[in-house]
Amino acid sequence: MFENSIFKDLVKRYHENKLSHAFLLETNDFNKCYSDLLKFVKTINCEKEYKDDCDDKSCNLCELIDNNSLPSFIKIEPDGTQIKKIQIQEIIDRFQSMPIFSKYNIYVVNECEKMNTSSANSLLKFLEEPEDNILGFFITSNKMNVISTIRSRCQEYSLYYDIDVDNMLYGDLISNYLNNIYRNNEGILYNKVEAINYFKERSEWLEFFKEMILVFSLYIKGKHNNYNINLFNDLPLEKIIIVVDLIETILKYIQSNGNIELILDKFVLEMRNICE
Ligand SMILES: [Zn+2]
Repeated sequence: MFENSIFKDLVKRYHENKLSHAFLLETNDFNKCYSDLLKFVKTINCEKEYKDDCDDKSCNLCELIDNNSLPSFIKIEPDGTQIKKIQIQEIIDRFQSMPIFSKYNIYVVNECEKMNTSSANSLLKFLEEPEDNILGFFITSNKMNVISTIRSRCQEYSLYYDIDVDNMLYGDLISNYLNNIYRNNEGILYNKVEAINYFKERSEWLEFFKEMILVFSLYIKGKHNNYNINLFNDLPLEKIIIVVDLIETILKYIQSNGNIELILDKFVLEMRNICE
């Protein structure tokens, strides 16, 4: 039923009465994550324990959740570039009373890294003195960007979903980059002259290397892709796995604010060690 098995585990915890009251969900796919989350919300609230026939409008509660009109369920998203205090206040005001139709009052904060300090602060009391009947879900693409006062009060999960490898944002650029630096002594020069101009924002570099990991992991799983990546043709699988480790290290450097130019050079030098 769930695309990501983490939610199965959450259902199990629910039955064992071990559910936390606040969760930080880091994901690469907001839509799939939210769709799983809605199924979870239905599962723990629906009297019929949410079955597939809840979807054909035979179940009022599940329909209300789908239409975002259940009073005890609030989803908020950034209003412009930020999640504002007034949006958080709506959650707090509405959840002063017990849920009537459902077991829980549930709030979802999408792109929660866009909470500013004052909106985050207004939520803290909520998080610090949790009531049994309130559950909160904070969704982000990068938990490192989430304000620490929120992070530290949540149970964290990473939810990765397979994406369609041929429709990636940076697929062509990834194959272009890898082919230009693979077994190429001019790789460092390529970094300085070409690659450094690929993106302006650190977040774009992050996405670039995250997608690169996906290309590799799908290749390792035997899934075909349309990008012509030379190293897949002549590098043995065990070395390709080592390259994935390297990309993960590179991602950590980018996340911890390292200098992009130095990070790219490190990538080329390490690739040279692995591939030769
Ligand atoms: Zn239902």
